[in-house]
Amino acid sequence: MRLSQRVQRLAPSATVSIATKVRELEAQGVDVIGLSLGEPDFDTPDHIKEAATKAMRDGYTKYSHPQGFPKLREAVSGNVERRTGIARGSERVFVGSGAKHVLYILFEALLDEGDEVVIPAPYWVTYPEQVKLAGGVPVIVPTTEEQGFFLLPEALERAVTPRTKALILNTPSNPTGSAYPRGLMAEIVKICEKHGVLVVSDEVYGELVYEGSHASALPEAANPDSVFLVDAVSKTYAMTGWRVGWGVGAKEIISAMARLQGQETTHPCLIAQVASVAALSGPQETVAKMRGEFRKRRDMVVSRLSGMDGVFCRMPEGAFYAFPDVGKLFGRGVEDSLSLVEYLLEEAHVGLVPGSAFGAEGFFRLSYAAAYDRLVEALDRIERALGRLG
Ligand code: PLP
Repeated sequence: MRLSQRVQRLAPSATVSIATKVRELEAQGVDVIGLSLGEPDFDTPDHIKEAATKAMRDGYTKYSHPQGFPKLREAVSGNVERRTGIARGSERVFVGSGAKHVLYILFEALLDEGDEVVIPAPYWVTYPEQVKLAGGVPVIVPTTEEQGFFLLPEALERAVTPRTKALILNTPSNPTGSAYPRGLMAEIVKICEKHGVLVVSDEVYGELVYEGSHASALPEAANPDSVFLVDAVSKTYAMTGWRVGWGVGAKEIISAMARLQGQETTHPCLIAQVASVAALSGPQETVAKMRGEFRKRRDMVVSRLSGMDGVFCRMPEGAFYAFPDVGKLFGRGVEDSLSLVEYLLEEAHVGLVPGSAFGAEGFFRLSYAAAYDRLVEALDRIERALGRLG
C-alpha cells in the first residue's frame, strides 16, 4: 500500500525517538538517565485523582459536548480571567485532547494550502509538522542566544507576507526556557494586529516561571480576538497522560474547531475533563511546590553546565529545560548536536535531545524534570564524558 504524501512528509518526533533509544539501552540492563522527555516527574495530585474516581461513580461516562465539557469551559474562562485580567466567556473556550491536539485542530480550522505561519526557532518540534499537515507553510525565523532566543520586532516585520495567517509564540519556551518580557510581548502582538496575523500563544508552561511573572499575550491585544491562547493541565498539574488542553479565542474559530472535533474524536475523555475542573478550581499548593523544586534544579543544572569546558548555558526564566550552547565542542570528535547527543548517550548513558531537532544547531536540550540526585549524577557523567573529548 502506498501511504499518503502527507504522512510521508511527516518527520518523526525527535524527542520520542531518543526516548526509544533510552528504553532500548535500559532493556539491556544499562543504567541510563533519560533527560529527553518533556513531562514533570511529579505525580498528579491526589485530589485530582479522587475527582476522577468520583466522576466515574457519578456517571460521567457518556458522550458530552464537542466543544468541551461546559463546567470545564467555565473553569478555564475563570482561570484565564484570574491570570490575565481579560474576561473571555466559556463560549470562547475549546477543550481538546491536550495542547498538542488543540493546536492541530486550530491549524486545520485556520489554514488553506500555502498559507504561511511564522515560527521562531528554536521551536517545539511539533509546530512545523502540524502546520505542514494542515497544508500550511512554516516560515522559520531564527533567533539568537544573545537576544535571549526572542523573536525581535524587525525580524517579525520582515517575515510577514500577504499570505501570513498566524505567528506561533511559546512562552516560556520549549526548548529554551526563555519567557518573553511584557514590553517585547506587547510590541510583537501590536505588529501582528497591524497585519491581521493571529497570535497563537502556547502558554502551557505559564505557571512555571522563576524570574518575574508570566507575560501572557492576551492582555497585550487591543482586540482579544487577535490572540489564540493555548494551555493545558498537562504541565501545570503533572497530568500529561490525562490528555486535556484548551484553546481560547475568537468565537468563529472556536465553533469551527468544535465542528472539526465533532467529526474527529467527539471530545476528550469526559472523566479526565471532570478531573481537570478539580485541577483548575481546587487547591493550587502543589503547583507552587513543584515550581519551587524546579527552580532549585534549574539553578544547580545551569551553574554545573556553565562550569564545563566549552559549554555556556543561558539562565532560562521558565519551563523545565536547559538549552546549553555546545558549539565550541564541535571538531573535537563530535561534529554536530546529534553526534554529541549520541556520544553522551553511549559514553555517559544520559539521554538528551539535539538542538537540530528544534531548528537550532549548536545546542542540546536537557530536561530537568528528574529527581535532584539523578540530575547531579547525570551532570557528573556528562562532565566526565566531555572531558574525554579530543
Ligand atoms: N506545547 C509545548 C510547548 C510543549 O512543550 C508541549 C509538550 O511537550 C505541548 C504543547 C503539548 O502539551 P499536551 O501534553 O497538553 O498536548
